[in-house]
Amino acid sequence: MILENNRYLLSGGIDPLELCSKYDCPLYVYDSAIMERQYKRINDAFNVKNLKLNYACKALTNINVLKVFNELGAGLDTVSIQEVKLGLKAGFAPQDIIYTPNCVSLEEISLAVAEGVKINIDNTSILEQFGQAHPDVPVCIRVNPHIMAGGNSKTSVGHIDSKFGISFHQMPLAHRIVEATGLTVEGLHMHTGSGILDAEVFLRGAEILFNIASEFPDLDYIDFGSGFKVPYKEGDIATDIEDLGEKISDRFNTFCEEYGRDLTLMFEPGKYLVSEAGFFFVKVNVIKQTTSTIFAGIDSGLNHLIRPMFYNAYHEIVNVSKPTGKPRFYTVVGYICETDTFGTNRRISEIHEGEILCIEHAGAYCSSMASNYNSRYRPAEVMIYKGKDYLIRKRETMEDLLRNQVEVPVFVKEKVES
Ligand SMILES: *Cc1c(COP(=O)(O)O)cnc(C)c1O
Repeated sequence: MILENNRYLLSGGIDPLELCSKYDCPLYVYDSAIMERQYKRINDAFNVKNLKLNYACKALTNINVLKVFNELGAGLDTVSIQEVKLGLKAGFAPQDIIYTPNCVSLEEISLAVAEGVKINIDNTSILEQFGQAHPDVPVCIRVNPHIMAGGNSKTSVGHIDSKFGISFHQMPLAHRIVEATGLTVEGLHMHTGSGILDAEVFLRGAEILFNIASEFPDLDYIDFGSGFKVPYKEGDIATDIEDLGEKISDRFNTFCEEYGRDLTLMFEPGKYLVSEAGFFFVKVNVIKQTTSTIFAGIDSGLNHLIRPMFYNAYHEIVNVSKPTGKPRFYTVVGYICETDTFGTNRRISEIHEGEILCIEHAGAYCSSMASNYNSRYRPAEVMIYKGKDYLIRKRETMEDLLRNQVEVPVFVKEKVES
Protein backbone atom coordinates (compact mmCIF):
# COMPACT_ATOMS: atom_id res chain seq x y z
CA MET A 1 0.00 0.00 0.00
CA ILE A 2 1.13 3.54 -0.57
CA LEU A 3 0.37 6.44 1.72
CA GLU A 4 -0.97 9.39 -0.24
CA ASN A 5 -2.65 12.52 1.14
CA ASN A 6 -3.21 10.88 4.50
CA ARG A 7 -4.80 7.73 3.00
CA TYR A 8 -3.53 4.29 2.21
CA LEU A 9 -4.15 3.13 -1.34
CA LEU A 10 -3.85 -0.27 -2.97
CA SER A 11 -2.70 -0.66 -6.54
CA GLY A 12 -4.84 1.04 -9.15
CA GLY A 13 -5.74 3.67 -6.54
CA ILE A 14 -8.18 1.33 -4.80
CA ASP A 15 -9.15 2.53 -1.31
CA PRO A 16 -8.92 -0.36 1.17
CA LEU A 17 -11.56 1.23 3.42
CA GLU A 18 -14.03 1.04 0.53
CA LEU A 19 -13.21 -2.66 0.10
CA CYS A 20 -13.82 -3.16 3.82
CA SER A 21 -17.25 -1.57 3.66
CA LYS A 22 -18.09 -3.44 0.45
CA TYR A 23 -16.94 -6.90 1.63
CA ASP A 24 -16.80 -6.46 5.42
CA CYS A 25 -13.96 -7.40 7.81
CA PRO A 26 -11.93 -9.47 8.44
CA LEU A 27 -10.86 -9.48 4.81
CA TYR A 28 -7.90 -10.80 2.87
CA VAL A 29 -6.98 -8.72 -0.19
CA TYR A 30 -4.44 -9.91 -2.77
CA ASP A 31 -2.87 -7.66 -5.36
CA SER A 32 -2.03 -9.64 -8.49
CA ALA A 33 0.20 -6.82 -9.78
CA ILE A 34 2.58 -7.51 -6.89
CA MET A 35 2.58 -11.25 -7.69
CA GLU A 36 3.46 -10.42 -11.28
CA ARG A 37 6.24 -8.03 -10.20
CA GLN A 38 7.78 -10.70 -7.97
CA TYR A 39 7.49 -13.40 -10.64
CA LYS A 40 9.17 -11.20 -13.24
CA ARG A 41 11.90 -10.26 -10.81
CA ILE A 42 12.97 -13.88 -10.32
CA ASN A 43 12.46 -14.67 -13.98
CA ASP A 44 14.73 -11.81 -15.03
CA ALA A 45 17.41 -12.63 -12.45
CA PHE A 46 18.50 -15.85 -14.17
CA ASN A 47 20.41 -16.12 -17.36
CA VAL A 48 20.05 -19.72 -18.51
CA LYS A 49 18.58 -21.29 -21.64
CA ASN A 50 15.69 -23.06 -19.89
CA LEU A 51 14.24 -21.66 -16.67
CA LYS A 52 11.01 -22.85 -15.03
CA LEU A 53 9.50 -21.28 -11.92
CA ASN A 54 6.95 -23.48 -10.21
CA TYR A 55 4.71 -21.57 -7.84
CA ALA A 56 4.58 -23.47 -4.50
CA CYS A 57 0.86 -23.18 -4.12
CA LYS A 58 0.57 -24.25 -0.49
CA ALA A 59 1.50 -20.64 0.33
CA LEU A 60 -1.83 -19.38 -1.02
CA THR A 61 -4.17 -21.87 -2.63
CA ASN A 62 -7.04 -19.82 -3.98
CA ILE A 63 -7.69 -21.10 -7.50
CA ASN A 64 -7.66 -17.56 -8.92
CA VAL A 65 -4.14 -17.06 -7.60
CA LEU A 66 -3.13 -20.29 -9.34
CA LYS A 67 -4.66 -18.92 -12.55
CA VAL A 68 -2.62 -15.72 -12.23
CA PHE A 69 0.58 -17.79 -12.18
CA ASN A 70 -0.61 -20.02 -15.00
CA GLU A 71 -1.10 -16.91 -17.14
CA LEU A 72 2.36 -15.67 -16.24
CA GLY A 73 3.81 -18.93 -17.59
CA ALA A 74 4.76 -20.47 -14.26
CA GLY A 75 4.53 -24.13 -13.39
CA LEU A 76 3.11 -25.37 -10.12
CA ASP A 77 4.71 -27.06 -7.11
CA THR A 78 2.23 -29.20 -5.20
CA VAL A 79 2.52 -31.23 -2.00
CA SER A 80 -0.75 -33.17 -1.98
CA ILE A 81 -3.00 -34.89 -4.49
CA GLN A 82 -5.60 -32.23 -3.70
CA GLU A 83 -3.21 -29.46 -4.74
CA VAL A 84 -2.52 -31.42 -7.94
CA LYS A 85 -6.27 -31.46 -8.66
CA LEU A 86 -6.59 -27.75 -7.89
CA GLY A 87 -3.73 -27.04 -10.30
CA LEU A 88 -5.35 -29.07 -13.07
CA LYS A 89 -8.65 -27.31 -12.42
CA ALA A 90 -6.86 -23.96 -12.64
CA GLY A 91 -5.71 -24.93 -16.15
CA PHE A 92 -2.10 -26.02 -15.65
CA ALA A 93 -0.90 -28.70 -18.07
CA PRO A 94 -0.04 -31.90 -16.15
CA GLN A 95 3.62 -31.66 -17.19
CA ASP A 96 3.80 -28.16 -15.68
CA ILE A 97 2.87 -29.54 -12.27
CA ILE A 98 5.41 -31.16 -9.99
CA TYR A 99 4.18 -33.22 -7.07
CA THR A 100 6.56 -33.13 -4.08
CA PRO A 101 4.90 -34.94 -1.21
CA ASN A 102 6.46 -36.08 2.04
CA CYS A 103 5.49 -39.27 3.86
CA VAL A 104 2.49 -40.03 1.68
CA SER A 105 1.44 -43.48 0.57
CA LEU A 106 2.24 -45.11 -2.76
CA GLU A 107 -1.53 -45.10 -3.38
CA GLU A 108 -1.62 -41.30 -3.34
CA ILE A 109 1.49 -41.08 -5.52
CA SER A 110 -0.14 -43.47 -8.01
CA LEU A 111 -3.13 -41.11 -8.24
CA ALA A 112 -0.74 -38.32 -9.19
CA VAL A 113 0.87 -40.61 -11.81
CA ALA A 114 -2.58 -41.17 -13.31
CA GLU A 115 -2.96 -37.39 -13.66
CA GLY A 116 0.29 -37.23 -15.64
CA VAL A 117 2.16 -34.80 -13.40
CA LYS A 118 5.86 -34.85 -12.55
CA ILE A 119 6.65 -37.02 -9.54
CA ASN A 120 9.26 -36.12 -6.93
CA ILE A 121 10.22 -38.88 -4.49
CA ASP A 122 11.83 -38.18 -1.16
CA ASN A 123 12.67 -41.53 0.46
CA THR A 124 14.23 -44.81 -0.63
CA SER A 125 11.35 -46.99 0.56
CA ILE A 126 8.86 -45.26 -1.73
CA LEU A 127 11.46 -45.07 -4.51
CA GLU A 128 11.67 -48.86 -4.44
CA GLN A 129 7.89 -49.35 -4.28
CA PHE A 130 7.44 -46.79 -7.04
CA GLY A 131 10.03 -48.51 -9.24
CA GLN A 132 8.19 -51.80 -8.88
CA ALA A 133 4.75 -50.29 -9.52
CA HIS A 134 5.63 -47.76 -12.25
CA PRO A 135 9.00 -48.70 -13.81
CA ASP A 136 8.14 -46.72 -16.96
CA VAL A 137 7.25 -43.44 -15.26
CA PRO A 138 10.25 -41.09 -14.99
CA VAL A 139 10.84 -39.59 -11.56
CA CYS A 140 12.61 -36.80 -9.81
CA ILE A 141 14.60 -37.53 -6.65
CA ARG A 142 14.55 -35.16 -3.71
CA VAL A 143 18.04 -34.98 -2.23
CA ASN A 144 18.77 -33.82 1.29
CA PRO A 145 22.05 -31.89 1.12
CA HIS A 146 22.24 -31.56 4.93
CA ILE A 147 22.49 -27.84 5.02
CA MET A 148 21.08 -25.95 7.96
CA ALA A 149 19.12 -23.07 6.61
CA GLY A 150 15.97 -21.15 7.22
CA GLY A 151 14.73 -18.75 9.82
CA ASN A 152 12.88 -21.24 11.99
CA SER A 153 13.22 -24.85 13.13
CA LYS A 154 9.75 -25.62 11.75
CA THR A 155 10.64 -24.38 8.27
CA SER A 156 14.23 -25.54 8.04
CA VAL A 157 13.93 -28.82 6.19
CA GLY A 158 17.35 -29.59 4.70
CA HIS A 159 19.45 -30.37 7.78
CA ILE A 160 20.78 -33.76 8.86
CA ASP A 161 17.91 -34.70 11.17
CA SER A 162 15.23 -33.52 8.78
CA LYS A 163 12.51 -35.89 7.59
CA PHE A 164 12.77 -34.50 4.05
CA GLY A 165 14.65 -35.90 1.10
CA ILE A 166 17.05 -38.77 0.50
CA SER A 167 20.36 -38.07 2.20
CA PHE A 168 23.17 -37.53 -0.27
CA HIS A 169 25.04 -40.20 1.70
CA GLN A 170 22.35 -42.66 0.55
CA MET A 171 22.87 -42.05 -3.17
CA PRO A 172 24.58 -45.44 -3.68
CA LEU A 173 21.38 -47.08 -2.40
CA ALA A 174 19.23 -44.86 -4.64
CA HIS A 175 21.35 -45.92 -7.62
CA ARG A 176 20.94 -49.59 -6.77
CA ILE A 177 17.15 -49.18 -6.58
CA VAL A 178 17.08 -47.32 -9.89
CA GLU A 179 19.14 -50.03 -11.58
CA ALA A 180 17.18 -52.91 -10.08
CA THR A 181 13.80 -51.48 -11.04
CA GLY A 182 14.75 -49.92 -14.37
CA LEU A 183 13.51 -46.47 -13.34
CA THR A 184 14.46 -43.35 -15.27
CA VAL A 185 15.53 -40.39 -13.13
CA GLU A 186 14.56 -37.24 -15.03
CA GLY A 187 15.14 -34.69 -12.30
CA LEU A 188 16.99 -33.91 -9.10
CA HIS A 189 15.57 -31.66 -6.43
CA MET A 190 16.53 -30.02 -3.17
CA HIS A 191 14.65 -27.66 -0.91
CA THR A 192 16.49 -26.53 2.17
CA GLY A 193 13.72 -24.55 3.83
CA SER A 194 11.97 -21.24 4.02
CA GLY A 195 13.87 -18.07 4.66
CA ILE A 196 17.36 -18.45 3.23
CA LEU A 197 19.49 -15.38 3.62
CA ASP A 198 22.22 -15.55 1.06
CA ALA A 199 23.58 -17.04 -2.13
CA GLU A 200 26.20 -19.04 -0.22
CA VAL A 201 23.72 -21.60 1.09
CA PHE A 202 22.29 -22.10 -2.35
CA LEU A 203 25.72 -22.47 -3.89
CA ARG A 204 26.86 -25.02 -1.31
CA GLY A 205 23.73 -27.07 -1.91
CA ALA A 206 24.15 -26.61 -5.65
CA GLU A 207 27.64 -28.16 -5.61
CA ILE A 208 26.30 -31.23 -3.85
CA LEU A 209 23.47 -31.52 -6.34
CA PHE A 210 25.75 -31.06 -9.37
CA ASN A 211 28.03 -33.80 -8.05
CA ILE A 212 25.10 -36.17 -7.74
CA ALA A 213 23.66 -35.06 -11.08
CA SER A 214 26.77 -36.04 -12.99
CA GLU A 215 25.96 -39.67 -12.16
CA PHE A 216 22.42 -39.62 -13.52
CA PRO A 217 22.62 -39.62 -17.35
CA ASP A 218 18.91 -39.05 -18.17
CA LEU A 219 18.22 -35.74 -16.44
CA ASP A 220 15.90 -33.09 -17.91
CA TYR A 221 15.89 -30.68 -14.99
CA ILE A 222 17.48 -29.71 -11.69
CA ASP A 223 15.18 -28.11 -9.16
CA PHE A 224 16.69 -25.93 -6.43
CA GLY A 225 13.50 -25.57 -4.40
CA SER A 226 12.91 -22.31 -2.65
CA GLY A 227 13.54 -20.45 0.54
CA PHE A 228 13.88 -17.02 -1.03
CA LYS A 229 13.59 -14.63 1.87
CA VAL A 230 11.38 -11.58 1.75
CA PRO A 231 11.71 -8.65 4.18
CA TYR A 232 8.82 -8.58 6.65
CA LYS A 233 9.93 -5.39 8.36
CA GLU A 234 12.13 -2.43 7.66
CA GLY A 235 15.77 -3.38 7.97
CA ASP A 236 15.17 -7.10 7.34
CA ILE A 237 17.65 -8.71 5.01
CA ALA A 238 16.12 -10.13 1.86
CA THR A 239 17.60 -12.65 -0.54
CA ASP A 240 19.59 -10.68 -3.09
CA ILE A 241 17.84 -12.33 -5.97
CA GLU A 242 19.89 -10.65 -8.72
CA ASP A 243 23.17 -11.70 -7.08
CA LEU A 244 21.85 -15.23 -6.54
CA GLY A 245 20.57 -15.39 -10.12
CA GLU A 246 23.88 -14.38 -11.60
CA LYS A 247 25.96 -16.80 -9.51
CA ILE A 248 23.67 -19.80 -9.93
CA SER A 249 23.22 -19.16 -13.66
CA ASP A 250 27.00 -19.11 -14.23
CA ARG A 251 27.49 -22.29 -12.28
CA PHE A 252 24.49 -23.98 -13.93
CA ASN A 253 25.65 -23.11 -17.44
CA THR A 254 29.10 -24.52 -16.69
CA PHE A 255 27.50 -27.69 -15.36
CA CYS A 256 25.37 -28.10 -18.49
CA GLU A 257 28.50 -27.85 -20.65
CA GLU A 258 30.18 -30.57 -18.61
CA TYR A 259 27.00 -32.66 -18.63
CA GLY A 260 26.77 -32.29 -22.40
CA ARG A 261 23.19 -31.06 -22.60
CA ASP A 262 21.07 -28.02 -21.71
CA LEU A 263 18.96 -28.94 -18.70
CA THR A 264 16.11 -26.90 -17.25
CA LEU A 265 16.84 -24.91 -14.11
CA MET A 266 13.84 -24.98 -11.80
CA PHE A 267 12.82 -23.14 -8.66
CA GLU A 268 9.65 -23.38 -6.61
CA PRO A 269 9.09 -20.15 -4.68
CA GLY A 270 5.95 -19.66 -2.62
CA LYS A 271 6.51 -16.89 -0.12
CA TYR A 272 8.57 -14.74 -2.46
CA LEU A 273 5.78 -14.63 -5.02
CA VAL A 274 2.76 -13.95 -2.82
CA SER A 275 3.78 -12.73 0.63
CA GLU A 276 3.85 -9.00 -0.10
CA ALA A 277 0.79 -9.26 -2.34
CA GLY A 278 -1.47 -10.01 0.64
CA PHE A 279 -3.14 -7.56 3.04
CA PHE A 280 -5.31 -8.61 5.94
CA PHE A 281 -7.84 -6.00 7.05
CA VAL A 282 -9.35 -6.32 10.51
CA LYS A 283 -11.61 -4.17 12.67
CA VAL A 284 -10.73 -3.09 16.20
CA ASN A 285 -13.40 -4.32 18.61
CA VAL A 286 -11.95 -3.14 21.90
CA ILE A 287 -9.25 -0.86 23.22
CA LYS A 288 -8.28 -2.17 26.63
CA GLN A 289 -5.90 -0.30 28.86
CA THR A 290 -4.24 -2.25 31.68
CA THR A 291 -1.65 -0.96 34.11
CA SER A 292 1.16 -1.80 31.72
CA THR A 293 -0.26 -2.15 28.26
CA ILE A 294 -2.78 -0.83 25.78
CA PHE A 295 -4.38 -3.76 23.98
CA ALA A 296 -6.10 -3.38 20.64
CA GLY A 297 -8.46 -6.36 20.37
CA ILE A 298 -9.42 -7.16 16.80
CA ASP A 299 -12.13 -9.22 15.09
CA SER A 300 -9.69 -11.99 14.16
CA GLY A 301 -7.17 -14.30 15.77
CA LEU A 302 -4.83 -17.24 15.31
CA ASN A 303 -7.68 -18.97 13.49
CA HIS A 304 -7.18 -16.58 10.55
CA LEU A 305 -3.49 -15.76 10.67
CA ILE A 306 -1.29 -17.97 12.78
CA ARG A 307 2.22 -17.03 11.68
CA PRO A 308 2.97 -14.64 14.58
CA MET A 309 1.92 -17.27 17.14
CA PHE A 310 3.23 -20.36 15.35
CA TYR A 311 6.52 -19.09 13.91
CA ASN A 312 7.06 -15.94 15.94
CA ALA A 313 6.74 -14.14 12.63
CA TYR A 314 6.72 -10.37 12.47
CA HIS A 315 3.93 -8.70 10.48
CA GLU A 316 3.77 -4.94 10.14
CA ILE A 317 0.48 -3.50 11.45
CA VAL A 318 -0.86 -0.10 10.42
CA ASN A 319 -3.97 1.90 11.19
CA VAL A 320 -5.71 2.28 7.85
CA SER A 321 -8.53 4.44 9.20
CA LYS A 322 -6.15 7.02 10.59
CA PRO A 323 -2.70 6.67 9.03
CA THR A 324 -1.06 9.77 10.44
CA GLY A 325 -2.45 10.28 13.93
CA LYS A 326 -0.31 10.61 17.03
CA PRO A 327 1.54 7.29 17.43
CA ARG A 328 1.11 5.25 20.62
CA PHE A 329 2.26 1.79 21.69
CA TYR A 330 -0.22 -1.05 21.28
CA THR A 331 -0.23 -4.78 21.71
CA VAL A 332 -2.53 -6.10 19.02
CA VAL A 333 -4.39 -9.25 20.07
CA GLY A 334 -7.07 -11.55 18.68
CA TYR A 335 -10.42 -12.73 20.00
CA ILE A 336 -9.50 -16.41 20.43
CA CYS A 337 -9.65 -17.93 23.92
CA GLU A 338 -5.94 -18.51 23.97
CA THR A 339 -3.13 -15.98 23.82
CA ASP A 340 -3.02 -14.83 20.22
CA THR A 341 -0.81 -11.81 19.89
CA PHE A 342 -0.26 -10.31 16.45
CA GLY A 343 2.28 -7.76 17.64
CA THR A 344 3.66 -6.57 20.98
CA ASN A 345 4.32 -2.93 21.81
CA ARG A 346 3.89 -1.70 18.27
CA ARG A 347 4.07 1.96 17.52
CA ILE A 348 0.83 2.60 15.63
CA SER A 349 -1.05 5.78 14.82
CA GLU A 350 -3.61 6.25 17.63
CA ILE A 351 -6.34 3.61 17.39
CA HIS A 352 -10.03 3.97 18.30
CA GLU A 353 -12.63 1.24 18.50
CA GLY A 354 -14.21 0.54 15.12
CA GLU A 355 -11.14 1.53 13.14
CA ILE A 356 -9.53 -0.72 10.53
CA LEU A 357 -6.02 -2.09 10.86
CA CYS A 358 -4.01 -3.78 8.16
CA ILE A 359 -1.73 -6.71 8.89
CA GLU A 360 0.76 -6.64 6.05
CA HIS A 361 2.65 -9.38 4.19
CA ALA A 362 -0.40 -11.56 4.56
CA GLY A 363 -0.21 -13.37 1.23
CA ALA A 364 1.83 -16.47 2.16
CA TYR A 365 0.85 -19.08 4.74
CA CYS A 366 -1.90 -16.90 6.20
CA SER A 367 -5.26 -17.69 4.62
CA SER A 368 -3.98 -21.12 3.55
CA MET A 369 -3.33 -22.01 7.20
CA ALA A 370 -6.63 -20.63 8.50
CA SER A 371 -8.98 -22.82 10.52
CA ASN A 372 -12.41 -22.76 12.14
CA TYR A 373 -11.05 -22.83 15.71
CA ASN A 374 -13.54 -21.39 18.21
CA SER A 375 -16.18 -22.09 15.54
CA ARG A 376 -15.36 -18.86 13.75
CA TYR A 377 -15.89 -18.33 10.04
CA ARG A 378 -12.87 -18.07 7.81
CA PRO A 379 -12.55 -14.65 6.15
CA ALA A 380 -13.58 -13.61 2.67
CA GLU A 381 -10.86 -13.08 0.06
CA VAL A 382 -10.67 -10.42 -2.62
CA MET A 383 -8.23 -10.17 -5.51
CA ILE A 384 -7.29 -7.00 -7.30
CA TYR A 385 -6.71 -7.89 -10.94
CA LYS A 386 -5.88 -5.26 -13.55
CA GLY A 387 -7.09 -2.50 -11.26
CA LYS A 388 -10.45 -4.09 -10.36
CA ASP A 389 -11.52 -5.93 -7.19
CA TYR A 390 -13.11 -9.38 -7.31
CA LEU A 391 -14.52 -11.53 -4.54
CA ILE A 392 -12.57 -14.81 -4.80
CA ARG A 393 -13.73 -16.53 -1.63
CA LYS A 394 -17.01 -16.00 0.17
CA ARG A 395 -17.06 -15.49 3.89
CA GLU A 396 -18.19 -18.68 5.60
CA THR A 397 -21.57 -19.12 7.23
CA MET A 398 -23.13 -21.34 9.89
CA GLU A 399 -23.94 -23.81 7.11
CA ASP A 400 -20.23 -24.22 6.34
CA LEU A 401 -19.48 -24.99 9.97
CA LEU A 402 -22.16 -27.67 10.07
CA ARG A 403 -21.71 -29.06 6.54
CA ASN A 404 -19.93 -32.29 7.46
CA GLN A 405 -21.18 -32.73 10.97
CA VAL A 406 -23.55 -35.66 11.30
CA GLU A 407 -26.16 -35.36 14.01
CA VAL A 408 -26.91 -38.81 15.33
CA PRO A 409 -30.42 -39.46 16.68
CA VAL A 410 -29.41 -41.05 19.98
CA PHE A 411 -29.68 -38.31 22.53
CA VAL A 412 -32.43 -38.65 25.11
CA LYS A 413 -32.96 -34.95 25.57
CA GLU A 414 -33.51 -34.47 21.89
CA LYS A 415 -35.83 -37.51 21.67
CA VAL A 416 -38.03 -36.23 24.46
CA GLU A 417 -38.34 -32.83 22.87
CA SER A 418 -39.11 -34.10 19.37
C1 LIG B 1 6.91 -25.05 0.99
C2 LIG B 1 7.73 -25.48 -0.14
C3 LIG B 1 8.24 -24.53 -1.04
C4 LIG B 1 8.01 -23.06 -0.91
O1 LIG B 1 8.75 -22.45 0.11
P1 LIG B 1 8.70 -20.86 0.30
O2 LIG B 1 9.55 -20.59 1.47
O3 LIG B 1 7.29 -20.46 0.50
O4 LIG B 1 9.23 -20.24 -0.95
C5 LIG B 1 8.98 -25.02 -2.11
N1 LIG B 1 9.20 -26.34 -2.26
C6 LIG B 1 8.73 -27.27 -1.41
C7 LIG B 1 9.01 -28.72 -1.65
C8 LIG B 1 7.99 -26.87 -0.31
O5 LIG B 1 7.54 -27.80 0.54
